[in-house]
Amino acid sequence: MKYSGVITRYLEHLPLPKDVEPVTLLEGNTPLIEADNLRRELKAPCKIFLKFEGANPTGSFKDRGMTVAITKAVLDKAEAVICASTGNTSASAAAYAAKAGIKAFVVLPKGKIAIGKLAQALIYGAKVIEIDGNFDEALTIVREVGAKTKVVIVNSINPYRIEGQKTASFEIIENLGVAPTHHSLPVGNAGNITAYWKGYVEWKEKHGTTLPRMLGFQAEGAAPIVHNRIFEHPETVATAIRIGNPASWKQAVQARDDSGGRIEMTSDSEIIAAQRLIASTEGIFCEPASASSVAGLRKLVAESYFTGKDTVVCTLTGNGLKDPDTAARGITPPLSAKPVLADVLKLMDLN
Ligand SMILES: *Cc1c(COP(=O)(O)O)cnc(C)c1O
Repeated sequence: MKYSGVITRYLEHLPLPKDVEPVTLLEGNTPLIEADNLRRELKAPCKIFLKFEGANPTGSFKDRGMTVAITKAVLDKAEAVICASTGNTSASAAAYAAKAGIKAFVVLPKGKIAIGKLAQALIYGAKVIEIDGNFDEALTIVREVGAKTKVVIVNSINPYRIEGQKTASFEIIENLGVAPTHHSLPVGNAGNITAYWKGYVEWKEKHGTTLPRMLGFQAEGAAPIVHNRIFEHPETVATAIRIGNPASWKQAVQARDDSGGRIEMTSDSEIIAAQRLIASTEGIFCEPASASSVAGLRKLVAESYFTGKDTVVCTLTGNGLKDPDTAARGITPPLSAKPVLADVLKLMDLN
């Protein structure tokens, strides 16, 4: 069957008219990969699946929400959209705005955006404005622009973003045949944990299924929900979740509590170790923020939180190619040889 993107696939679950013409880059339908090598490495009793959202058209899950938000903006005759971003929202907004033929403005924290994401926003043709401030300050400005002008906000405070992102839950249930017992994912602005939970709950209401426990992971230096206080100066190597005052804070706490789940934190070194482990055991290169889902899983395994009956899905939210600098730092560099067979063989060290 021809795949036409998440709007066409799940239109009956979305608040869009039946005859809508989607602005789509054929996002969604991403791989759900069973991670047996990782399971062995972590000595986890449960099954582990990785939902690789880095396989989306702009390399992150943001595309699921953006197709719906931009389609709605076009329906409403918007001429321009705006977002604050830690990187991936701006890349996605810029791409879908280009496809729709409308303008995109993005407001970014200067010096805190992974190079690949910045390059994306620029080449897709967005007007990029950097501020000497953090994501939370950028979002405050964007909210004011939204209130004072006709420019449409496409951050996850736009409910159409959440609507699109919930389709990842539908795909997981359809792939597994049932909902997993646990769902682990990174938490930044907390839109995605809100969206996944909404998706699982709605699928249950429509088609009947069990519900997973939601496991959210913040970075230690940006853990407002864990500590129940705003972080004025959030810091983490995982720039996609470098957020001190999440817009969907309340909804994330609700998802945690309604599902009987947890929201905890992982350190930067745990995040980087998990990123390398996912790559070297499963052949999947995700970005640092994404790896917090596995770093968190690893901590809970150490607490004997899971049993052999459990199935855990970890969302790998974005593609590691977006942030090559972080990946290259501290990793073993290539070996050097003269351009002769003997030298290369010596370095290969086959015996
Ligand atoms: C946006 C993003 C997150 C955080 O998602 P929220 O919905 O803000 O909680 C995590 N990882 C990546 C790669 C992202 O782009």
